[in-house]
Amino acid sequence: MNRKALHKISYGLYIVTSGQEGKFNGQVANSMFQVTSDPSTVAVSINKENYTHEFIKESRKFVISILSESAPMTLIGLFGFKSGRDVNKLQNVKTKAGITSVPIVLEHAIAYLEVELEKEMDCGTHTIFFGKIVDCDILTDAEPMTYAYYQKVKGGKSPKSAPTYIKEEPKTTGGTAAKYVCSVCGYVYDPVNGDPDNGVAPGTKFEDIPDSWTCPVCGADKSKFEKEI
Ligand code: FE
Repeated sequence: MNRKALHKISYGLYIVTSGQEGKFNGQVANSMFQVTSDPSTVAVSINKENYTHEFIKESRKFVISILSESAPMTLIGLFGFKSGRDVNKLQNVKTKAGITSVPIVLEHAIAYLEVELEKEMDCGTHTIFFGKIVDCDILTDAEPMTYAYYQKVKGGKSPKSAPTYIKEEPKTTGGTAAKYVCSVCGYVYDPVNGDPDNGVAPGTKFEDIPDSWTCPVCGADKSKFEKEI
């Protein structure tokens, strides 16, 4: 079985928020799709270990913000590689409350769907939540972020909790300047690309990045990076 075939499935990238009574959390999800048109229903696959899973189970409502290609790795890292058990992810992010009262993430979102949970399917490590869209709107006419764009252009990875996570084989590099891998989230720093979003010009060797620089995905500091071999 060639599991790389699974890489050919196309996805978008979304922030799913949920909760009630002043306690909310959110996470990145890519496994989301529309199920029916009338009534409008959607499904999303969420890892049972994720904090947001508890919130959806309890509150029986969730919001899906559809991310734009402009979404920076810091936003994706905050919602995709950090746990709401450790940090309040929604604290410094622009949101608004809709009719479900679940915060709708507005930053780098092009549209949102407010959903009331109708059914859930136990899928082992994950639960698929099915729900009816009770409100939705477009925020901007920018292009949606696809998972391919996230991986190819942004250099993004799947966290281990994602349905799409595949353990990668170690690679060897042919270039002169080495790539470095974040041991926390798997982000690869490639000196060819640098990290222009965070002031590191293309062509900068890892060794020459200031010590104040942190992983653009998960926020880990430089010491957490290992040379790719
Ligand atoms: Fe990282």
